[in-house]
Amino acid sequence: MKYWAYLVAKLMIAGVFLRGLGWAIFHAWPQTDTFLAGRRVRSDLFAHDLPYTFAMWLYALVCIGVVWVIVWDQRYRCRTCLRRLRMPIQSGSWNHVLFGAPRTDYICLYGHGTLRVSELQITGHQEPDWEPHDDMWKNCFRSKRRKNKSSWPLSYTFPAKQV
Ligand SMILES: [Zn+2]
Repeated sequence: MKYWAYLVAKLMIAGVFLRGLGWAIFHAWPQTDTFLAGRRVRSDLFAHDLPYTFAMWLYALVCIGVVWVIVWDQRYRCRTCLRRLRMPIQSGSWNHVLFGAPRTDYICLYGHGTLRVSELQITGHQEPDWEPHDDMWKNCFRSKRRKNKSSWPLSYTFPAKQV
């Protein structure tokens, strides 16, 4: 939930910024006044004025680029803590595609999960696979308790007598 809320928040902030940029371009561009039935009408210059149309095409490219960067950034974030995933590890081989296709694994530094990104996509686009991890500290303490229980007869020592 937090993951998707963060994406929506980023898209909304980018939408406000890009809408403002479009508004600034529209109002900063020199306009020719058109009089229609005695009233001054501000006409849309898109597809009528070549430099303005070119500027709007660039604006559209910037909008697409910003949305692409937001989605790309979101894809490589932890689903739990929203931090950037780190430590890419490449595995598999391009020479042995059937037995181990090349892929890159990214992990959250706080142990929340692993993102597996396939480098080879033969059957079309494959979404990255997010695998959440259990709480690693729980596992550490659980294994320590088990270790103490299993080694109890050998490691048991009598409490020292206090003098
Ligand atoms: Zn995390």
